[in-house]
Amino acid sequence: MSKVRKETIAIHGGYEDDPTTHSVAVPIYQTVAYAFDSADHGAALFNLEAEGFRYSRISNPTCAVLERRVAQLEGGVEAMAVGSGQAALHYAVANLLDPGKNIVSVPQLYGTTHTLFAHYLRRLGITVRFAESDQPAAIAALLDENSRGVFCETVGNPAGNMCDIEGLARVAHAHGVPLIVDNTVATPILLRPIEHGADIVVHSMTKFMGGHGTTMGGIIVDSGKFPWRNHARRFPMFNEPDESYHGLVYTDHFGDAAYIARCRSVYLRTTGSVLSPLSAFLLLQGIETVALRVERHVENARRVAEFLRNDPRVDWVNYVGFPDNPYHALARKYLNGKACSLLTFGAKGGYDGAVRFYDALKLIKRLVNLGDAKSLACHPASTTHRQMTREEQVKAGVTPEMIRLSIGIEHADDIIADLDQALDAARLRLDVLAAAS
Ligand code: PLP
Repeated sequence: MSKVRKETIAIHGGYEDDPTTHSVAVPIYQTVAYAFDSADHGAALFNLEAEGFRYSRISNPTCAVLERRVAQLEGGVEAMAVGSGQAALHYAVANLLDPGKNIVSVPQLYGTTHTLFAHYLRRLGITVRFAESDQPAAIAALLDENSRGVFCETVGNPAGNMCDIEGLARVAHAHGVPLIVDNTVATPILLRPIEHGADIVVHSMTKFMGGHGTTMGGIIVDSGKFPWRNHARRFPMFNEPDESYHGLVYTDHFGDAAYIARCRSVYLRTTGSVLSPLSAFLLLQGIETVALRVERHVENARRVAEFLRNDPRVDWVNYVGFPDNPYHALARKYLNGKACSLLTFGAKGGYDGAVRFYDALKLIKRLVNLGDAKSLACHPASTTHRQMTREEQVKAGVTPEMIRLSIGIEHADDIIADLDQALDAARLRLDVLAAAS
């Protein structure tokens, strides 16, 4: 499958017709455990000497198809699916760090990822250093001998910044640490970060990959390219015997897939944020159409961005598809000359104006999600980013009047008509307020 294109991988990747039933659709293996032929067979499975399944907290055949499919889509060696994007982020980072160590992150992050990094990981003795900007030089300035990774969202949510993945990978690798990226907003259809030097790719599959707003899920993809053995002092967990697993040395046993294998046997096995087989099935259904959907999302977003930009009721539009956007050149380079379907804008009237506009939407859903077939709107200052201080919000690219739109695959004219009427409704009320004062 590695030679076929993304559109084909999305439909066939990781699955051969089921050997027992010849089922063409991926079966839902709704089982907790798998019978052993004998005590010796069980022992061989536990010793990782035989291939197979033992218990669904560790792996499950339906989830395994999803893992292989997403690994192929991203061009990685292996992947591990988990119950949510947040679980994937937690495991992806925790797998690299012991207490006292740090990672360096760009500041433009999804709000809960910021909370995970700034508050929860700190309580485990792990520090996340937030750089002043997403520029590689700003990251390099914070790396030290205790650093174990560099983190970014390839396209920041909701800031809409496009990271220079090659530049960040260069800085990380010069320091002997991996680059971990969250590729949720871009999807492997627009961007495959491993081709640009990223070592570990994380997704919230809850978004574009599933694509229908029905199913939570996360995944970590291991590129298999980071040379853990060359950095054994920094990463003893992959290179020294693991006492919790019969003294196994991950790099010896799993070679290129040492990182993801440890993630599974340490984090998934012991803390258990598993993806259910039914969820894996639903996500696989979604992934079959991801390439088509992304194409339509992107085209609709372009039409919406142009409408907003030409509208006098709108103060500003942040859309990487505009040539005067500061991230346009990076977007052209990394997103195949396209832009993604997430954009932000500020309606006139500050925080209150944004809230009035938001309340007037009819077709576009008011919620905190993105990447659904439906068009969605979020007001980050009052929801996803409300736990941050004002200063942290600004660093994360959030302003009080900002509305984030995730443009769906409805007819573009209908999306635009809804925005138009909501802007009108907000402005009318502004007029009423002005007349009353
Ligand atoms: N990463 C990004 C960029 C997100 O936007 C989100 C959620 O919005 C997440 C991770 C978390 O994913 P989940 O909601 O599946 O835990």
